[in-house]
Amino acid sequence: MPKSEGELRQDIVEVGRLVYQKGWVAANDGNISIRLDDERILATPTRVSKGMMHADDLIIVDKCGSKLEGKRECTSEILMHCTIYNMRPDVNSVLHAHPPVATGFATAGRPLDLALLPEVVITLGYVPLAAYGLPGTPALTEPMLPYIPKYDAIMMGNHGVVSYGSDVYRAFFTMEIVEHFARIAFVAEMLGGPKVLPKVEVDKLLDSRARYGVERRNGATQECPVVAEDLVERGARAGMARAELIALIDEVLKARGIA
Ligand SMILES: [Zn+2]
Repeated sequence: MPKSEGELRQDIVEVGRLVYQKGWVAANDGNISIRLDDERILATPTRVSKGMMHADDLIIVDKCGSKLEGKRECTSEILMHCTIYNMRPDVNSVLHAHPPVATGFATAGRPLDLALLPEVVITLGYVPLAAYGLPGTPALTEPMLPYIPKYDAIMMGNHGVVSYGSDVYRAFFTMEIVEHFARIAFVAEMLGGPKVLPKVEVDKLLDSRARYGVERRNGATQECPVVAEDLVERGARAGMARAELIALIDEVLKARGIA
């Protein structure tokens, strides 16, 4: 049985508390929404800590982001949520936060695009990085448009991360996977650089998605992260300078037409 609006309000309050406790937002940052039906979206308001919300703080907006109900003001990032719902009929919840390690990568201009961990390859493929856009304007969402149909999480340049899924807990767990992946990738970098999985292993992981209940989105081939062979082909070698390696990774993605 579908959840009632009251239950969905409680879900947002609960996920907001988790997001705050995990340190993925500071002060009043971040926003969470749930699609109620074809016409209405339940969303967190602006100027309230997502860790300290009450169910009646939430507002309801229409599918263009105009407020329909609620005493608090609408977040300026609601247009990003509306765009995602519009482009992804399978998505019923959107979560935006600033988890510090993944946001650090986004701020350094570094997508989480290497094939490093089996769970990440299976669930997300990889996490692309959309260029910076001014918050509260259409420029925020515009660089994300090519990625929305094919990925369930996007890093936002010099800003944060957005994740989405069939319900608010799915969106939350996807954000958790992104931040956990970023932490592991960061430690691997500190320890001399990650060892990237070869294509044959990545293909096996992508083929196993059905077994794990992960549905392929359109153009699933574009979710393939950068594999070891990609880098070898472009002359990567052990102990190579980080900046040079990052340039090679960029070339791989550009060659696939998705950077
Ligand atoms: Zn933000």
